[in-house]
Amino acid sequence: MDKNETTKICSASKKCGGCRYLGISYKEQLRKKQKYTEGLLGGYGKVLDIEGMDEPYYYRNKVHHALGRDKKGNVISGSYEESTHKIVPTDTCLLEDKVSGEIIRTVRKLLTSFKIQIFNEKSGYGLVRHVLVRRGFATGEVMVVLIAVSPVFPSKNNFVKALRKEHPEIKTVILNVNDRFTSMVLGKRNITLYGDGYISDILCGRRFRISPSSFYQINPVQTKKLYETAIEYAGLTGNETVIDAYCGIGTIGLCASDRAAHVIGVELNKDAVKDAIINSKENKISNARFYPGDAGEFMTGMAAKGDRADVVFMDPPRSGSTKEFMDAMIKMSPDRIVYISCNPATQADDLQYLTKHGYKVRKIKPFDLFPWTEHVETCCLLERFRNAKDHVTFTLDMEDYYRIKDAEADKEKR
Ligand code: SAH
Repeated sequence: MDKNETTKICSASKKCGGCRYLGISYKEQLRKKQKYTEGLLGGYGKVLDIEGMDEPYYYRNKVHHALGRDKKGNVISGSYEESTHKIVPTDTCLLEDKVSGEIIRTVRKLLTSFKIQIFNEKSGYGLVRHVLVRRGFATGEVMVVLIAVSPVFPSKNNFVKALRKEHPEIKTVILNVNDRFTSMVLGKRNITLYGDGYISDILCGRRFRISPSSFYQINPVQTKKLYETAIEYAGLTGNETVIDAYCGIGTIGLCASDRAAHVIGVELNKDAVKDAIINSKENKISNARFYPGDAGEFMTGMAAKGDRADVVFMDPPRSGSTKEFMDAMIKMSPDRIVYISCNPATQADDLQYLTKHGYKVRKIKPFDLFPWTEHVETCCLLERFRNAKDHVTFTLDMEDYYRIKDAEADKEKR
């Protein structure tokens, strides 16, 4: 498909609202995201060119559909119409992995033939609420999660058998119990109906185990570029102590581990931390440790003990980081901070704080992880300046910057 094609028609587009940029050429989408990033972060330095996709379609490795019935009683699935709980029936989506889409169609068919009740939010009756499919693009392994209000799933073994018969690539099937009525799709309890309860994928040459509730980047093609840039910005030589804050299943830290002395990861989601620990073992990485907990509290604890880090990778959620986290990090005074963000608006606030406390922004690069939507991901490099001489203009390229630093060091030696 041609990425410059102006319009891609989608039958659900009027109601779905997922693709806000539908009807805008991909080139124009990238230009808009570049401008948006420049508007928010341009005050800190030159924003490098956004990294777009060659094939900006079917990139989502995680597909979630809410389940319901239409007026005729047929099982339908899709995303919710904006600000409602009305399902927009979707069969083909420009963003979703095609294999996962086919599996969801089969799930719908089997729910009908097995006469399994779809949960009705109005009446409170029924069983199954959502279906979520995750596929490792590199391994082809598939996880199917059926989200239901009760742990009792009739004919579960036969249901799984029938599903796997049509899709042998399914490696695990999980029943997730969610009887709460919040915006969270997944509940806390996972019951493995088939397989090991997780799938694996390969990213940047490492194998990662992914549990149903763990965060894993949804666009692996772009994630690889993002991580490679982040690791390049970290300027590792093999001697550094590196912190991977908000580490998820440990992907960034583990990908950087062979260029660092030690990696310390911290993450709130306990399942993700378990995955990270197993991931380090499975990749035979012995210099990485992962800890469960709030990143701010963890850093405060480290700073209080007088622990140091040379480089901090930080990849907070959309709300951004916290003053507690940043104060502790400033106290630990890492030479470099590589700040990855899924929300440049909150990142801008955090950069303002960090640049007032001894750091200078050296690089800003946007990445398009979510084509056809308004989202933009950014990777920023900040450096600590130790003295006035280090306070060179931020528009300099890193190479120029180091060339100047080396020249200054040479002069001092002479
Ligand atoms: N770096 C990872 C995950 C980034 S998403 C990757 O690239 O895959 C942000 C992560 O921050 C999520 O895994 C989320 O569970 C975690 N998180 C959210 N709030 C947190 C907090 N207060 N302390 C530590 N981790 C947190």
